[in-house]
Parts: sequence; structure tokens; C-alpha cells
Amino acid sequence: MAARPSPYLDDLNPAQRAAVERLDGPVLMLAGAGTGKTKALTARIVHLLMTGKARPNEILAVTFTNKAAREMKARVGRMLGQPAEGMPWLGTFHAICVKLLRRHAELAGLKSNFTILDTDDQLRLLKQLVQAAGIDDKRWPARMLAGIIDGWKNRALTPDRVPAADAGAYNRKGVDLYAQYQTRLRELNAVDFGDLLLHMVTIFQTHQDVLEQYQRWFRYVLVDEYQDTNVAQYMWLRLLAGAHRNICCVGDDDQSIYGWRGAEVGNILRFEKDFPGAHVVRLEQNYRSTPHILAAASNVIRGNEGRLGKELWTDAEGGEKVRLIGHWDGEEEARWIGEEIDAMQGGTRGMRSFHLDEIAILVRASHQMRAFEDRFLTIGLPYRVIGGPRFYERMEIRDAMAYFRLVVSPADDLAFERIVNTPKRGLGDKAQQTIQITARAHGVSLVEGARLALEQGLIKGKGGAALGQLVGDLARWGRMVEDADLSHMELAEIVLDESGYTAHWQNDKTPEAPGRLENLKELVKALEGFENLQGFLEHVSLIMDNESQDAERKVSIMTLHAAKGLEFPAVFLPGWEDGLFPSQRSMDESGLKGLEEERRLAYVGITRAEELCTISFAANRRVFGQWQNAMPSRFIDELPEDHVEVLTPPGLYGGGGMPAPGIESRAAEANVYNSPGWKRLQARQGQRGMSQPRESRNTVIDMEAVASFTIGERVFHQKFGYGAVIEIEGDKVEVAFDKAGTKKVVARFLSAKDD
Ligand code: ATP
Ligand code: MG
Repeated sequence: MAARPSPYLDDLNPAQRAAVERLDGPVLMLAGAGTGKTKALTARIVHLLMTGKARPNEILAVTFTNKAAREMKARVGRMLGQPAEGMPWLGTFHAICVKLLRRHAELAGLKSNFTILDTDDQLRLLKQLVQAAGIDDKRWPARMLAGIIDGWKNRALTPDRVPAADAGAYNRKGVDLYAQYQTRLRELNAVDFGDLLLHMVTIFQTHQDVLEQYQRWFRYVLVDEYQDTNVAQYMWLRLLAGAHRNICCVGDDDQSIYGWRGAEVGNILRFEKDFPGAHVVRLEQNYRSTPHILAAASNVIRGNEGRLGKELWTDAEGGEKVRLIGHWDGEEEARWIGEEIDAMQGGTRGMRSFHLDEIAILVRASHQMRAFEDRFLTIGLPYRVIGGPRFYERMEIRDAMAYFRLVVSPADDLAFERIVNTPKRGLGDKAQQTIQITARAHGVSLVEGARLALEQGLIKGKGGAALGQLVGDLARWGRMVEDADLSHMELAEIVLDESGYTAHWQNDKTPEAPGRLENLKELVKALEGFENLQGFLEHVSLIMDNESQDAERKVSIMTLHAAKGLEFPAVFLPGWEDGLFPSQRSMDESGLKGLEEERRLAYVGITRAEELCTISFAANRRVFGQWQNAMPSRFIDELPEDHVEVLTPPGLYGGGGMPAPGIESRAAEANVYNSPGWKRLQARQGQRGMSQPRESRNTVIDMEAVASFTIGERVFHQKFGYGAVIEIEGDKVEVAFDKAGTKKVVARFLSAKDD
């Protein structure tokens, strides 16, 4: 080993250092979150370079996201402390395979300038094939077919290799369509994402010379987040490293969260079999999180069976307990988190002050983001959504918004173009051109152009009938805007239902469809906060403009899946409710597989936090304007009491914002407090003793202390303001409010005021 100074080794612990210095032969680093796996992997790259073991282009390092690749590159650069001649091959499986496939495209029957299809293109193509084959596309929606094909590609199965049992399950139709699809892609000189790996694995398997070239070339292979590799990726790695066996994989079985996308934790077990004599390194010291956070994460993941089992420890001391808070509903949760972030910025929570970019909100489902985006926009809190489009940029949301735009302003041609054939109305390019030409000839909007084209008999048949229906519907919905008896939420639902757009996703059997339907419900819910459709549309156009300069410090909002490998000083984990997290789907499944993956996701979430982790849930979520009671997540029961501080919901006891509009009716109040979720929270708070936020702005009344109101006492109510108690009946209190007159309210909504 070269006797050069090696500062990058000095800040590693002995176990990490051993993993870094053992450069030759297979190494499996299997360790829990925050134990410095990624750090060690990065140091290993530097060590390979510094010791002269490898030149940059002889190193192949695979990361899970492009962002992780960029960060690793930057870190390697810094650790080297000197410019290296070139950089290692560092990127995601996909990014690396694109580069390789361009060099060898002809071996896959492609030209090197092949195009990579996005999901929309892929679906369009599949749809055409299904129709051309005379198959009922209701029974074979393109999305379902795409899901099946992706599944095969994840397992590196070309059409001729799909096992008979799999092929038979779809009556051979799936596999036949798969074969046709591959042929069509070649004709188009195109690939989809799954092809990138599939083609490279196939080329390696059938062209020994090419494989050997790369085996010589990539003398050292390193893989981060190994637990989430699928079979095709694993095969690709095994082929590349098969000869020299210099492969180092790091991962954590407890963080395997892509099973639904074909990842196989089994790859970890296979590694030791395929690379006998592998040096297995276990790291147990966590450098990321406080003991409370670590204890909470460890306790939750303990609920999973079939773990490889690891214990984590830290020599860090002190820190805040994991904070748990229940809210009235999702809007209030967003409001509270917004206020909390404000307070944390100012350092008024008895803790150090946090910068916005030290704070992340990690959600289970992307539709949860909307409430935060709206709230943060309202209070002017800068945020960014990481990984995946922001709520209002999602396909289904933009489609729905296009309908709303047309209802409000029929001359919105862009909106018309977007939805004229969504859902499919049998209006092909030709019909759409006819509409354009007619509109232009008469100098009118597309909607009007469509009407004229129909009148002149230019568009006929099924498409013509459907277009006529759409044009008529748009005019009718437009008139309904003026209908005082119809709320704009109702109108929105009518539009989405009658246009067939909701049904379009209901009939879709792919994994994303339920999420898209959820997003649509969420959209209708968002409307409630606005006077009318117009006001809402303006609000959204403002949101779209909100992207300010990137250098600004911002709160990060992302899904738990996107947060893998990242760390933040303060993390909020909202929406811990059964049915949301764990997801309904995982709870409905027989067996524990889905639920265990959800639990790993909980583990990933908690372990992202360095100093402060706040978990929250709402007793109620509104879906389509309807209350739904939610039970706190079963994972909450798995949090260790000693490491958790239960906060008092300030929106109920004073201190939060105003109640969400429309939910202060007594019926709603009763509903909230009768919800099983709420009762469970109450029981919990009873057990643990109620703790209060460090700095509640109003006096907080203990639930048990409700009876201690006295006649004549001054009180404060979120909605009605100040007043005096005139009568007490059980949990109802009659109050003479200074401004709002005499009202009977639920006692819990009152806080005592001694002024
Ligand atoms: P995850 O499983 O979440 O991907 P990881 O095991 O990859 O986590 P890293 O991200 O590499 O963990 O490290 C977690 C944190 O601990 C980082 O901030 C890193 O700088 C720090 N760290 C790692 N090893 C050490 C060490 N030996 N001394 C001090 N800090 C360390
Ligand atoms: Mg990592």
C-alpha cells in the first residue's frame, strides 16, 4: 500500500476502514441506516485511486438515484483533494446502461441513436398493438400490459424466456403482445426503461467478447443501496464482476422498499452464494441520529419477521424525544407543521434554530403533498418537492384542471387540446386536425371549431358522436357555474364523472391508478378552500409560478421512497394512519409481505432524521368532502414509549390556527370526537400523561380538566373568540361570546382565559 497520507481513512471507524482497505475480492457490507455505508463506499473509490489500484475509468460505481451519483462524485472529488485524471463510471443502473447500449446498439438490433420512450409513449404504443391484435382493450388496458411487461423485464426475461407458467397465466396473450412490442420498438429504433438493462444483460449473455471486454475494463465494481436491486440488475452485476470478483455491495435489508418494483432482498442472500468467500462487513455504530430516534426506528423494525437482524448503537447523547402528535384533520396537520417550522426557524422551541433546508417532510403518498404545498404557499414558506412532479404538475391533475379551465373559459384552446381525446373518444390526429382547421378558418376557439366541424358533417362516426357529447357537456357545465344551488366542488365532481375521466382511472388496473384516483379526490378537496372554480384556478397558476431561485433555502417535501439514503436534521412524518401508512393495499393483502415493506418504509423515514423527528396523524381525513375516521397507524403502537413525547394538538386546545372551513359544525365536532382514532389518541395521552408543546401560545386544558370550567369563567374559542361560560352540560358548554352571541360548544374547543 502506498505510504501517502490518507485523511479520508482517518475519519472512518475500524470496521469501515477494514471494508475500505480490502480492495480485492467480493465484499458485502450489510449494515443499518446511518452507519456510514455510503461514506465507506465513497472512501473505497478514493482508496482505489490513491493506492493506484485502479484508474478512474476502471471503477464502476452504481447508485440508486442520479442525485446520489452527483453527490458521490462531488465527495470523491473533495476527498481526493487533487484533480483525478477523469472520473469513475458513477451513476444509476439506467444511466450506465444507456451509455453502454449506445456503444453496442447494433447487437440489440438498434442504431446507436435509439430513443428512450417515456411512459406515455410506451402506453400509446401498447394500446395500438392491443387494438391491432383485435383484443378488447378494456380487458387489456395498456397500463396493465405495461406492468406485466415491466415485471418480466425486471427479471431479465425476453419474450422467448418467459416461463411457461407465467405466459400461460395470461393465456399467452401477454407474452405474444410482449414479443410484438419488442419488435415494434426495434422498428422504431426505440427502447423503454426496462430495455436498457434487459438488452445489456442479453448482449453480455450472447456475446462473450463484449462481456470480457467490460470485465477487463471495470476491474472494480461498487454498488450502493444493494437491497433494492432487481433480478436483471443483479444478473448484470454478476456478469460484469464474474471474472475478477472485485465487487463491493453495500445495503440494508431493513431498507428494502422497492419490492413492488421487482427488487429482491433475496439478492443479498444470493450474493454470498454466487461470490463464495465474500467478506461480510457489519457496521453497527450509527453516526446520524440521536439515541431516541434510533431507539424508535429499531423498535418499529423489530416487528418484522425474516430480518437478517442487526442492532444499532450510537455514542451520541441527549437530544429530543421523537415527537408524536395527533390532529383533527389533514389540513390542520399541514397548518401545524407550517407553524412548527416557523417556530423552529426562530429557535423558539427551546431548541437550536433550524434553517429551512435542514427540514424535510416525508410523505407516504404523493397526494399528501398538496395540503403542504397549499399551506406553505399561503404562509410564504419556501419549499421544494423532490423526486417526481409537484402535485399540480401531475398528469391526472393537469387533465382535470384542463376540464375545469374549459368550463370556466371555453376559449382555452390549450386545455381543449389536452382533453379532447382524454379519456379516449376515438378522435385521432385527423379529426383533431379538422377541428384546428375549422377553428382557424372561422377565427374561433377550438371548442367552437369543433361545434362547427360537427355541424358541417366534417367529423362523423363514433368519434363525431363523442365529440358532440363533449361540446354539449362543456356548454352545459359552463352554465352550471352560475347555478347558485350547486357548489363548485359538486360541479367539479360532475365534470370529472360525466366526462368519463374518473371512470377512465377506475377501469385502469395498473398499480398507479389508485394513486391517481386519490390525487383526483385530493384535488376536489382542495377546491373547498376557495370561493369558486375561478379563484382556485388563479391560485394554482400562482403555485406554478412559485419556483424561485434554487439557491434559496427551502423545506424539502418528498415521498419516503425518494428519501432513501438522505439525511436531514429535522424530519416530519405526517399521515401515520392505518390505510394511508401502512397503505390500504398492504393491509388488505393476505400475508405480511406488503405490511413488512411498509414497516421498512417507516424505518427508512425515521432514520432520515438526525436531531428531531416528528410523527403525526389526523383523526379524520376528508375524502370527497366526506369525513372518514382514521385510526392512528399501527406503527405508532410500535414506537417505544420511553423515547416518545406526545404533544397536545394545539388546534383543539388553543394555539393552532382557525379550524378548517366547514368543519366547525356541531355534527362534525361530534364525528371527530367519536372517531376511533381520536379515542385511541385520548387513551394514549391518558396513559402517558399529557405533555404539552414546549411553547403553547394559549393555556392548554387537560381533557380531564374539562369539568373544571366554572360558570362565569372567561374562555376562548377558535372560531367564536372570547366569551364567558354560562352553562355546563357534560362536555358541552354554553358560552356568551363577546361577538358571536350565545352558543353551545364542545368543551374541548375552549381554552381558559384569565384575562
Ligand atoms: P443509509 O442506510 O441511510 O444510506 P449509510 O449507512 O449510507 O445510511 P451514511 O450516509 O454514509 O450512512 O452516513 C451517515 C452519516 O454518518 C453521514 O452524515 C456520515 O458523514 C456520518 N458518518 C459515517 N461514518 C462516520 C464516522 N466513522 N465518523 C463520523 N461520522 C460518520
Ligand atoms: Mg447510504
